[in-house]
Amino acid sequence: MLSQIPPLSLLVTFLGLTAIIALRYALISGLFYWLLWGRPPEKVHAIKLMHGQPAPGSVGREIRWSLWSSFIYAAPAAVVIELWKLGGTAVYTDLAAFPVWYVPVSIFLYLFLHDTYFYWTHRIMHHRKIFPVVHRVHHESRPPTPWAAFSFHPWESVVGALFLPLLALVLPIHVGAALFILTLMTLAAVLNHSGWEILPTWWLKSWPGRNLITAAHHDLHHKNPRTNYGLYFRWWDKWMGTDRMENEYAFLNTNAAPSEEGAAP
Ligand SMILES: [Zn+2]
Ligand SMILES: [Zn+2]
Repeated sequence: MLSQIPPLSLLVTFLGLTAIIALRYALISGLFYWLLWGRPPEKVHAIKLMHGQPAPGSVGREIRWSLWSSFIYAAPAAVVIELWKLGGTAVYTDLAAFPVWYVPVSIFLYLFLHDTYFYWTHRIMHHRKIFPVVHRVHHESRPPTPWAAFSFHPWESVVGALFLPLLALVLPIHVGAALFILTLMTLAAVLNHSGWEILPTWWLKSWPGRNLITAAHHDLHHKNPRTNYGLYFRWWDKWMGTDRMENEYAFLNTNAAPSEEGAAP
């Protein structure tokens, strides 16, 4: 079926998708950068996770890598959209095609499977021989800002870009649910790299807070890259003994940043 895709249509879809991904990134990152880093700290009702300000030039570097990532993310997604037009994917538009309960179940399945893929590929990328080539770019953000959401080396972007389009070929998902997941993915990436925890302490200590990944959790990965590898859920980290958060809750009460400084990967 791949050979049936009209090349011009694929090119138009690819360029359009690149623009949408880059624009969505710019809007969400720009908004949270202004809200969290662009205003006086006393006006920000959130907890700053790292001392200091982003290093000069780091925002520009994060944006450059993120724009390259937008191109790379768009490529397999454009192929899937073209295949979808030809009826060759598991993406459906008729809500009646599956029971209504399947919509939230499919969203959960996509998030969990993506989280599983991310956790294991992320751990592999921290192998000392792979890290310098593939993943070091992402860890150059200290502290990360909302612009670091897609700040990956192209090799890492390729690894990240393939999974959801491939899943969309086999696991049924409503087109609206797919758009919801993609937007949630961008929002989570921006917030988890924002350098601030915007969620209240009571929420972080609740059941969802103890099982879902937020900025405080992922920020610890940027400080100590041997922990907290997950994307959405803390489950794989907990199951594999790499979750680290409980003893970090103290700083949430004092509104002071955690004392630990960066460690080598
Ligand atoms: Zn990160
Ligand atoms: Zn990492």
